[in-house]
Amino acid sequence: MASEFELIRRYFDRPARTALVGVGDDCALLRPDAGLELAVTTDMLVEGRHFAPGAEPRSLGHKALAVNLSDLAAMGAAPRWALLAIALPAADPDWLGAFAAGLFALAERHGVELVGGDTTHGPLLTIAITAIGEVPAGVALYRAGAQAGDDIWVSGELGGAALGLAHPEIAAAAKRLHLPEPRVELGERLRGIAHAAIDISDGLVGDLGHILERSQVGAVVHYGRIPRPELFEDPDLERDCVLSGGDDYELVFTADPGQRKEIEALSTELGLRLTAIGSIQKGAPKLQVLDAKGKPMRTKSGFDHFA
Ligand code: ADP
Ligand code: MG
Repeated sequence: MASEFELIRRYFDRPARTALVGVGDDCALLRPDAGLELAVTTDMLVEGRHFAPGAEPRSLGHKALAVNLSDLAAMGAAPRWALLAIALPAADPDWLGAFAAGLFALAERHGVELVGGDTTHGPLLTIAITAIGEVPAGVALYRAGAQAGDDIWVSGELGGAALGLAHPEIAAAAKRLHLPEPRVELGERLRGIAHAAIDISDGLVGDLGHILERSQVGAVVHYGRIPRPELFEDPDLERDCVLSGGDDYELVFTADPGQRKEIEALSTELGLRLTAIGSIQKGAPKLQVLDAKGKPMRTKSGFDHFA
């Protein structure tokens, strides 16, 4: 079996491009460009919790990085570097090769360098990636920026990943679950346009709720306006997936109605659906979801690991 160091060298050591020091020393050494702020985030995937034992390694490599790039996008930051801490029950070369291929394919698409990490033996496969991005000073997108009167927008479609979890046999939905596409370009382009943003990892109701709490505002969302894949048959499952299903990694953001033209043009330019689904209201941080008749719907809140 490969030693820990051979394993790191073989699967995770790629030449640094912009890092002063990447994999191989005690720390990575990074030099941010002048005038930029660093956005730093970490997200963990645990076997049995975030993915089933035996999950396909290439998509795991993709998803472990994707969920972190999604957080950077939600802050308006351009991704630059990543660190990978991984606990492996076994050092299986086929598994490691496929995992690394999935991770580096996404990393290369977004110009991200893997600059370090930690590799250990562990009882459960556990993957924690730390991602570092850059954003010009003063323009990062906060959860706290929403203002009364703002439109609420979402990217892409919601509910597909949760449908894929409930019905793995629906291939298009399973793909949404296993290969989420972080909205990196959108996040960067929303600088100066959006007042607030968050990525949808735990469901629209819960994650938009975080914007409301942080911004101390309320919101009304029209259920019928939320874009969703045309794959649902059961309306109850559809409602739960669209409103409360996690793992879509779309962005929800708020912007002044004066930005509508700009946002529609951006949607066309990026080839990414952007849809206004409601508005921010003055008052307590409460979300009302209205059905087609304008009646408030009952909603399940987002996922909570300890609830
Ligand atoms: P240390 O003893 O200082 O923690 P390690 O022996 O754990 O160093 O790691 C050696 C080098 O390999 C370090 O530069 C570390 O950042 C890097 N590294 C370890 N594991 C990974 C990994 N899974 N992916 C990328 N780099 C890694
Ligand atoms: Mg170490």
